[in-house]
Amino acid sequence: MEENLKDKLFNKKENGWEETDSKEREEILNFSNGYIEFLNKSKTEREVITNARKIAEENGFKDIMYFESLKPGDKVYFVNRDKSMYLAIIGTENIENGIHIIGSHVDSPRLDLKPNPLYEDGGFAYFKTHYYGGIKKYQWTTIPLSIHGVLVKANGEKITVNIGEDENDPIFTITDLLPHLAQDQMEKKLKTGIEGENLNLLIGSIPYGGEKETEKVKLNIMKILNEKYGITEKDFLSSELELVPAFKARSLGFDNSMVASYGQDDRICAYTSLMAMMNVQNVKNTAVCILSDKEEIGSMGNTGMESHMFDFFVSEILNKMGINRPNLLDRVFCFSKMLSSDVDAGFDPIYASVSDRNNAAFLGRGVGLNKYTGARGKSGASDANAEFVAWVRNVLETNDIKYQISELGKVDVGGGGTIAYILANKGVDVIDCGVPVLSMHAPYEVTSKYDIYCAFRTYKAFWQA
Ligand code: MN
Ligand code: MN
Repeated sequence: MEENLKDKLFNKKENGWEETDSKEREEILNFSNGYIEFLNKSKTEREVITNARKIAEENGFKDIMYFESLKPGDKVYFVNRDKSMYLAIIGTENIENGIHIIGSHVDSPRLDLKPNPLYEDGGFAYFKTHYYGGIKKYQWTTIPLSIHGVLVKANGEKITVNIGEDENDPIFTITDLLPHLAQDQMEKKLKTGIEGENLNLLIGSIPYGGEKETEKVKLNIMKILNEKYGITEKDFLSSELELVPAFKARSLGFDNSMVASYGQDDRICAYTSLMAMMNVQNVKNTAVCILSDKEEIGSMGNTGMESHMFDFFVSEILNKMGINRPNLLDRVFCFSKMLSSDVDAGFDPIYASVSDRNNAAFLGRGVGLNKYTGARGKSGASDANAEFVAWVRNVLETNDIKYQISELGKVDVGGGGTIAYILANKGVDVIDCGVPVLSMHAPYEVTSKYDIYCAFRTYKAFWQA
């Protein structure tokens, strides 16, 4: 019998931590500290973009509108309505031979305020909410929530709101029924135990004014908001206010090996790709980083990936390079490559029954690639071509980066999607490539610091390939 035949022939799936030395562990932990810090300042798509723009400018990127012409080495960005962003480093290679794109999304599941949110009932003031993205509603009750976003007055004046994060701020919460009286509720299915229409945020309880007034608690809240922000009730009509968990991103485990935080889907890929872009130099193919919005609700709208804003950005690059001509954009896309950088479902031993162990992504085994997503018979999937998967494997293997190629779950259990298909529609070669997550879409999601660092290294290697 040949020795080590298994080592030679099998696809060994190992825990990445085992191979790390103390120097590498320190690098991994340091990188995650930066990520945790970023998460704590970036709880909405607008906050991510504000902070990403700051980081880009500190690293020499400039708004593409400031450039009259572009040449290799130039670093540009474009911010779309404060909610999505594209960055690029112009490469030395002829751009007609394609660009290298990494695309993540910066919106996360949350509760939005309704256009007419404020009401009073039973001596309490409340905000009505409308949930955004795929949430398990019961997870959003009895946790501290903060309010982030903007109100825009009819005259255009924009008021930025961020309340519930500072230790001295009040927080808000959605109440749930005491178990003593919850017999009927407990018989319901998890899906209907908490109804969307009952996700009402508790915001105050002191009445204002004399006995003749009605809605005194609501009035008192409106008075406080008027003094603090200069707004009236009508200004909610033109606002985007989002409720997000008020707790902080933290290291998880006695060994500090994991990160627990709200919004890791998909700020984990947004942060790692942004950091990778800040750390690459002299790229051959033009490197493009997409931070998109609205992925959690289907990528529609002019800040979502379905809009033509990205085409506009790439066309602007071609214009400013002085080479644009009819159909050139199509040609560029046809020869382009992309990592759709979105999170993957991590294998959870407690819920092992939904996964096929041989085809699941495990935390700590490196960056996770999905050749395809979709549901049932791959419905809605963008299935990456084997030739392109091989090309990506080569980049990872040459750079000694740990990776796993997996599926979201068992065949008939469910499914999901990312922005991959949208770029594939333009002719780009795309594969999903991100970080495995536990408790995806919950107020507190869990990831491995090992995989976070692998994602960063993967994105860097992809752009430098
Ligand atoms: Mn996602
Ligand atoms: Mn998601």
